[in-house]
Amino acid sequence: MTTILGRFGEIGLKGANRGEFERRLLRQVRQRLPEGAAASLRGGQVVVHVPEASAAQTADAMTRVFGLVSVIGAVPAAPNMPAIAGAAIDLARASGAHSFKIAARRVWKGFPLTSPEINAALGAAVADATGLAVDVHHPDLTLAVEVRSDVVYLHGQALPGPGGLPLGASGRAVALLSGGIDSPVATYLAGKRGLSVAAVYFHAFPFTGDRTKEKVVDLCRALGRYFGPMRLWVVPFTECQVAIRDLCPAPFATLLTRRMMLRVAEELSRRERAGALVTGDSLGQVASQTLEALAAVGEVAELPLLRPVVALDKDEIVAIARRIGTYDISIRPYEDCCSIFAPRHPRTRPTREQVREAEAPLPAADLLAAALSGSERLFVEP
Ligand code: ATP
Ligand code: MG
Repeated sequence: MTTILGRFGEIGLKGANRGEFERRLLRQVRQRLPEGAAASLRGGQVVVHVPEASAAQTADAMTRVFGLVSVIGAVPAAPNMPAIAGAAIDLARASGAHSFKIAARRVWKGFPLTSPEINAALGAAVADATGLAVDVHHPDLTLAVEVRSDVVYLHGQALPGPGGLPLGASGRAVALLSGGIDSPVATYLAGKRGLSVAAVYFHAFPFTGDRTKEKVVDLCRALGRYFGPMRLWVVPFTECQVAIRDLCPAPFATLLTRRMMLRVAEELSRRERAGALVTGDSLGQVASQTLEALAAVGEVAELPLLRPVVALDKDEIVAIARRIGTYDISIRPYEDCCSIFAPRHPRTRPTREQVREAEAPLPAADLLAAALSGSERLFVEP
């Protein structure tokens, strides 16, 4: 069996919150464990025991558990110097490094040697046994030694986790997920702050083909590596788009489309018992993302409207999309309904009154009811 440690940081976690945080974190870790593995909480970290053959895969899966700051493949040793030195020598040999340093830390202050004394003693023992050079400034291998009362963990480099809060710790949200680059990143960031998310996609068939819908399903599959199985609402949106095109002034089309989307999403959030809506809006990116446009669209929602990428530049959003594995799906060349119905001269600085007036001819309540009754809920496995 191999030991994997999952570290969580989030300071300011106190009292009752801490228990819930840890319980949710542990549940998320357990969902990713193979047969024969076990996870528990010890000394403020998640400790996983996993069969050697599936250790690398398990550690990798743990890097996608929200709330974990780092993931470490560790070798446990008994808390005495001969046992620690033996483990350190094995690790140094196996690493292929030419130089090393020891970085000891005593979680348990009752250990007979201080951290500098442990560094010196282990450094000498490893150098003697392996012939590797001690280099405290630029070592190939930094061998961390974490001393606890019942066990000592030795390890090399940690893998970074996403950080944030465990799924569900902040409640539930409904995310408006298009096939674009921004909304999957917004969804990911909402999850990272502890929101469990159901996605909603507005499908304007045949203006947007089933390839676009497949793309959104694939995005959910990719996000599922972080979220687990995802619920995806597919809302038939053709009738709304056509009505807006035929009944309302063209410069307002995108804004009115967004308002209808938010209304539908808010109704679905009741069914999901969600307390917030999430969109991929980024300030100033396109005509419908000026402050005035965001205000005129957002006024139809009563739930808090979260826009996690609002302040990110496109290249920052793209960097996250690449890292989380949604970018290559998002750039598939199928159009979304918004680009097809987008007006040539969109209104960029609308007042709320102008938008309400533009919307007046629209049978919004009927369209909303029809869109909701045609909605289909899919379960997407990662
Ligand atoms: P994205 O890359 O997420 O599509 P975007 O920058 O292209 O975002 P818009 O197309 O203007 O922005 O859409 C703004 C937001 O509205 C999206 O981020 C998404 O949350 C939501 N949205 C737009 N179209 C749809 C759709 N067809 N289904 C679900 N949500 C949508
Ligand atoms: Mg888009």
